[in-house]
Amino acid sequence: MEVKALLALPKGFEVTSIERADDVLTVAVVSTQAHPTCPLCASQASRVHSHYMRTVADLPCIGQQVRLLVQVRKFFCDVTSCSRKIFVERIAPFVEPWARVTARLHQTIQIIGLATGGMLGARVTDRLGIQTCWMTIIRRIMALPTAPVKEVAELGIDDFSFRRGRKFGTILVDMQSHQVIDLLPDRKAETAKAWMQTHPEIKIVSRDRGGDYAAGAREGAPQATQVADRFHMYKNLVEAVELTLARCRAEIRKNAQATVQPEEAEGSKLLVENTEFVSVENWKPAPDLGAERARLTRHAQRQDRYEQVIALRAQGLGNTEIAHRVGLTARTIQRWLKENTSPQPQRRRKRRSSFDPYAGYVLKRWEEGCHNGLRLWQEIKEQGYTGTQKMVYRFLVPLRRNQRIIQKAHVPHAPVQDFSAKDAVWLFARDCADLDEKEQETLATICQASETASKTYELVQQFRHLLHHREGKKLDEWLARVTASHIRELQSFVLGVERDKAAVVAGLTLPQNNGLVEGKVNKLKLIKRMMYGRAKFPLLRQRNLHAL
Ligand SMILES: [Zn+2]
Repeated sequence: MEVKALLALPKGFEVTSIERADDVLTVAVVSTQAHPTCPLCASQASRVHSHYMRTVADLPCIGQQVRLLVQVRKFFCDVTSCSRKIFVERIAPFVEPWARVTARLHQTIQIIGLATGGMLGARVTDRLGIQTCWMTIIRRIMALPTAPVKEVAELGIDDFSFRRGRKFGTILVDMQSHQVIDLLPDRKAETAKAWMQTHPEIKIVSRDRGGDYAAGAREGAPQATQVADRFHMYKNLVEAVELTLARCRAEIRKNAQATVQPEEAEGSKLLVENTEFVSVENWKPAPDLGAERARLTRHAQRQDRYEQVIALRAQGLGNTEIAHRVGLTARTIQRWLKENTSPQPQRRRKRRSSFDPYAGYVLKRWEEGCHNGLRLWQEIKEQGYTGTQKMVYRFLVPLRRNQRIIQKAHVPHAPVQDFSAKDAVWLFARDCADLDEKEQETLATICQASETASKTYELVQQFRHLLHHREGKKLDEWLARVTASHIRELQSFVLGVERDKAAVVAGLTLPQNNGLVEGKVNKLKLIKRMMYGRAKFPLLRQRNLHAL
């Protein structure tokens, strides 16, 4: 095979020599174009004036840098009327005038740059045997021409943050071609309006609920139908649900705990499955309700603190600083973070009781059929028991609740012991059919534990149904149901819907959906992360408009 073919040189070049030194392959090439044309008058020239060398970098070959020494010629232009007397032959498009690299290397650097960004790109090119630097890579990306935005009938618009929650920009997506068509440097109504005004062909604007984009579209594209995007609608609802669940947290934890502790859950399905077998020695009285409530409150507080610790750690704070802020010792923080779990409530330990010596006797009598607390108390009192009647009743509660006091078996784990609104909200938001058995059980426990949670679940699922079946016409009915529920977090969601109702109904009826834009925002976030969050707007825009 000819070396020329191996190097994939275009027509009009011949290889004269190849040398290799220090991992650099130097390929000498001469231009053999027959009749180059004068760049000014376009007539063919044949008289050579002189030769000179251009050194250009080319694509690496088997991990080696490749340098082309291209011998090009200068020609006389013999057309008398032409003012250019001497010209250099063009070897474009293989090498552009004045370029120090071949067009194909230029393109490769652009592609690597688009995929990885400047800093990372420089590391990649270095490994590949391409000599460049991050500045050059960025320059190459910035040099990419931006195609003018064509007609856009259905526009999707959403915001994204440059710096987490501090500075925002706008992403615009053609909902029909699924392409990112532009990025705007802020998320102001004015900016969106100005952009839309240059596109009077827009028929539909799909946007998040209310706010600046609604205002921008109202003025910038008054001809268009505004559609509140379903993704955002549902997201807002889910946020309201999370707030509701957070408010009911204590209630849910307490009641759900009670459901699975056999001594308090008579006849429930859970009890049958989780009947607790307890040895006589470990027979505990039913908890004192006041003390139990206090214990659960303490646990809820500890859990909240733990979540606070996690949040502070996520902000990058050290153990000492976190300890200072939440009022714990640094050692505790260290332990929590190491165990990577919320501090679990201590199961009540069996405390020695004056009842213990009589436990065997009471159990025997119980099994004989004597279930009368007063009588049992009197019987053991005669034997010397000094405790109260009430205490005996408390010891009998587990027996009445069908607990087996015989031998020890495994202790059932409460499915919502570590309830957090943030996790639970997804059980509420998803289709029940998508939940696995354990999730369904947890969901059922939560709904049983709190009437508010149960009502909330019903409302969320009804809304989900509206979304999925495009039943915008049933929106009013749903809104009325929420209003009647008096769940205050959901009321504020309703107020938001009322303010933007036309677009919400359109969103619930028309097929357009911003989920698409959301996907683009996620891709943008990825690109942003790869640039270590340092990307300035113009570069971010280039990389998204030319995203691979
Ligand atoms: Zn000429």
